[in-house]
Amino acid sequence: MIISVASGKGGTGKTTVAVSLAMARGYCNFMDYDVEAPNASFFLKPDIKNEQTVTMKQPYFLTETGADFKKCAEFCHFNAVAVAGKEVIFFPELCHGCGGCLLVGPEGSVMEKDVEVGKIRKGKADPGISFFMGDLKPGYMRTITIQSEMDKLIEHDKIVIIDCPPGTSCPMVFSLKDSDYCVLVTEPTPYGLNDLDLSIEVLKSMKIPYGVIINRDGIGDGKVEEYCNKNNIKILLKIPNDMGIARNYSRGVSLVEYDNSWAGKFNKILDFIEKEAV
Ligand code: SF4
Repeated sequence: MIISVASGKGGTGKTTVAVSLAMARGYCNFMDYDVEAPNASFFLKPDIKNEQTVTMKQPYFLTETGADFKKCAEFCHFNAVAVAGKEVIFFPELCHGCGGCLLVGPEGSVMEKDVEVGKIRKGKADPGISFFMGDLKPGYMRTITIQSEMDKLIEHDKIVIIDCPPGTSCPMVFSLKDSDYCVLVTEPTPYGLNDLDLSIEVLKSMKIPYGVIINRDGIGDGKVEEYCNKNNIKILLKIPNDMGIARNYSRGVSLVEYDNSWAGKFNKILDFIEKEAV
């Protein structure tokens, strides 16, 4: 069973929830798909034993052949190639590695090489958690390339917790695509409500069941709760705005480690999801 943990915006406590679910249940896969800013390792403290380099194909242009690369520039939908006179200007950060410029470019003058776009780090965390973390190389925008490689590592006979990237753009949608259930984390503020609404639209269109956790309950207003009640959206849990939780979070101490009574609450959520998602 794949359970993704998502939020319409960053900083709502998504990782806190994902880590708590994993620690409460144990013996699961934890996938940190938030590859632009992975931080679950700060709380889970995995023993990283293995590292996998993720590469993509990228073209290079043999300008010394004197060939005309105009067709490459015309073909590239991502504007990764520009031609000015005899000069070819290549913007590697825009290249999606589609291989198109090899097909349309002058024969023998466009070649391809593997370039590193990031790493996947693998390890073990207590209790019995198989931990996988994507780590995008700075300057590269190949989030989904890394997430696709991580997909291949999922052990489908276990509970899988995916810590999704924040927002509702392609990397979030890609992270969610195989989920049996999504836990949406929000905070009770107008921003939180707006982004929750956007995330719900995405989940509805993908036909993925979901429930909501309200973090920092007590700040803001009651509009998120009102919205959930009005739309029959299950509120799975409320986490209070508590100085002790915040202080421990800043030290890398998870909610479950800080106060073990949270383990029972997160296990109840998992029991509910297991029934709901079958
Ligand atoms: S490989 Fe594709 S994306 Fe990259 S420069 Fe060529 S046409 Fe553009």
